[in-house]
Amino acid sequence: MRLLCLLVILIFCLFACQDNERTTNASSEPQKKIQDIVDADVYSVTNRKKADGPKILVVVAHPDDECSFAATLYKTSTHLNGAVDIAMITNGEGGFKYSTLAEAIYGRPLSDEEVGRMNLPAIRRNEFINGCKIMYVRDVYMFMEKDHRYTQDTNEILGKDAKVWNIERIQNGLHKMLVANNYDFVFVHMPVPTTHAHHKCATILALRAVQMLDAEKRPVIMASRGHTIGVEMDPFTGLDEFPITKLMEGKPHVFDRTQPFGYKERLNYKIIVNWVIAEHKSQGTMQLAMHKGDQEWYYPFAVNNKHAHEKAAALFKRLEEPQFETKTYGFGGGTDRKKAEELKKK
Ligand SMILES: [Zn+2]
Repeated sequence: MRLLCLLVILIFCLFACQDNERTTNASSEPQKKIQDIVDADVYSVTNRKKADGPKILVVVAHPDDECSFAATLYKTSTHLNGAVDIAMITNGEGGFKYSTLAEAIYGRPLSDEEVGRMNLPAIRRNEFINGCKIMYVRDVYMFMEKDHRYTQDTNEILGKDAKVWNIERIQNGLHKMLVANNYDFVFVHMPVPTTHAHHKCATILALRAVQMLDAEKRPVIMASRGHTIGVEMDPFTGLDEFPITKLMEGKPHVFDRTQPFGYKERLNYKIIVNWVIAEHKSQGTMQLAMHKGDQEWYYPFAVNNKHAHEKAAALFKRLEEPQFETKTYGFGGGTDRKKAEELKKK
């Protein structure tokens, strides 16, 4: 009897240990990819070795900024077998003010500035990478510069004596990525005057990196804006103090998140965007963007060569193609009411 008890305890311990190992693995840091072309932390998110579709680089300031492009990125990766990389400039530590609801999840008072700034870089990196898995992103390049504070003043970052970001390191890194990976498109935030200066500066640095390439070799760099059907957009043509932000003439290219698919066409790409947003649990205000914005509008910048609109039009036309086969379901799917009623009568 005693031997049997010992055996049961031993088996229990064995299972408990295995379970522990699984838990530890699930919460461990993502695999760091070893490479030396860029001075940044680089993580391989999904294996896109067989990708032969469009290659896109997204350049943004904060973990969660990628949500603006989520539907386009997902469909490019999955329907067009594309390769999407994201360059993230800051570590997101400045987001502590909206971490209230995540305090219980992560077991720390993250909305205290000191605790938030210390813990959010790792937390937000993991939330970001989890969202990237949903979009089938290939690699992420994290520059981990300081997310110092909310401001609309670009001088705090790009001014003569500014020391918040290592501009040279970012600029060199983006340039090397463009040369090494030969992207077809670069997506950035629209640098409207009222947006966070970090967003404007990330866009300006990406534009400068593209401008360093020969005009004919430049990927098509476009600014994205979310659009809600029926709502008028504020006009924007570029920031006066940064002529590089001037937009090209012509209409924007549109990805419609409301493209319907699935059974009875009840699904659409807003679901993907919501999933990516949901990963950013430490960012309360981001969660309020759930289900907002019907379309992603993309505007080519004037720095592009003359083929930009033509190339972009070809991409967005392909992104309008139906992605999923429409299935029909029979009795087993619970859809054949007539037959069900007949059976009930018998
Ligand atoms: Zn942001």
